[in-house]
Amino acid sequence: MNLEEIKKYLKEYNGPELKIMEVCGSHTGAIAKNGIPGLLSDRIHLISGPGCPVCVTPSSYIDRLIDLCLTPGNCVVTFGDLIRVPGSRMSLQQASGRGGNVRMVYSPMDIFPMAHKDPDTTFVFAAVGFETTAPVYALMAQQILEDHIENVKLLTALRTMPGIIDRLCAQGADIQGFLAPGHVAVVTGSKVFEPLAAKYSIPFGVAGFTGAQILTALCGIVMACERMQGGCSRVMNFYPSVVTREGNTEAQKLVDRYFDRSDAVWRGMGMVPDSGRLLRGEFAQLDAGSRGLNEDHKINAGCCCDKVLMGRMKPTQCPLFGKVCSPLRPQGACMVSTEGNCYTYYVNHRE
Ligand code: SF4
Repeated sequence: MNLEEIKKYLKEYNGPELKIMEVCGSHTGAIAKNGIPGLLSDRIHLISGPGCPVCVTPSSYIDRLIDLCLTPGNCVVTFGDLIRVPGSRMSLQQASGRGGNVRMVYSPMDIFPMAHKDPDTTFVFAAVGFETTAPVYALMAQQILEDHIENVKLLTALRTMPGIIDRLCAQGADIQGFLAPGHVAVVTGSKVFEPLAAKYSIPFGVAGFTGAQILTALCGIVMACERMQGGCSRVMNFYPSVVTREGNTEAQKLVDRYFDRSDAVWRGMGMVPDSGRLLRGEFAQLDAGSRGLNEDHKINAGCCCDKVLMGRMKPTQCPLFGKVCSPLRPQGACMVSTEGNCYTYYVNHRE
C-alpha cells in the first residue's frame, strides 16, 4: 500500500474499537506534531504510555542527586530536562539556587574534560534512560576504568521496556496493540517484544519517527487486529532501515558487561520486576549510590502522572492540566520533559 492508501484505510476503518498504545515518548511527540490522531477513524484510539525516562524516575533518585549536589566537593552533571523534575523536597534547579553544584551537558562524555580540569571535585553523572542510552553509560564506565579516572561516577536510573509493558498487560490494560519504540529496538532488536506478544496475544509494530513511518506501523497493527480478532501475537518491524530482529549485539554485550538486570521502581507505579539495570557489584566504585533508591513520594496530591503514564488517563483529564500545571509551572514530571505526555499534549494541543 502507498501512503495515500494507508491514510484512506486508517480513516475509513470501521471494525471493532481499537486502543493502541505508543510506548515511547518520542512517538508521543511525533504523533502530536504530525497531527496523526486527526488522520484516524474515530474507532482507533491512541494512548500514550510510560516511555519517557525522566517522567518515570522516582523521587528518591532526584532526592539523592540533590543531596549529592549540595555536598561540598561534588558536582552533579545532567541533561537539561531532569533539572526541573520535582523531588520530594525540591528540584535540582531549586537546589542549584541554594548553592548546589549542578551542570548541564548535551553529551555524557562532556563530563570527562570537566573532571580533568577539576580533579578535586567528584563529578556524578545522572544516568537516566532506557535501553537506548544504556550503551553510552557502559562506554562511560569503560572509559573511567581504562583511564583510571577517580573523580567521575554514575548515579543510574536505567529502565527497560519489557518489564513495564508486562506490568501493563498483566494488570489487564485495555490495549489491543503496541506501537513499539524504534530507538529501543535498534539496540535490543525486535525480538525483545516477541515473548510479550505471545504471552498476551497482542501485536507489536516497531515504528520509526516520521509521520509516514508511524502511519505505516499503525496500519499494520490495525490490519493485524482486524484479521486476527481472536488475538494476534505478531511482532512486525516497520523500521527495517535501522532495526533488525537481533538488534545491536555489540551494544548488548557492552551493557551486559557493566550492568546487571534488576527490579526497579517507576514513578507512581511502584516496584516493577526485572525492569531496570544497575552497575554490577564488581564496579561498585563507579556507583554514586544507585542501589536502594526505592522510595517514591507523591509530589503533588492532585497530580495524576501515574495514571497518565499507564495509559489510564489522558493528560487533559488531569484536573490540574493547563490550570495550575503547565510547562512553566510543572506540578509533575510528565509536564517537564519534552518527551512527557502532559508536556506534549499541552504544547501541541494534541486533543
Ligand atoms: Fe501531573 Fe501536571 Fe500531568 Fe496533571 S497535568 S498529571 S499534575 S504533570
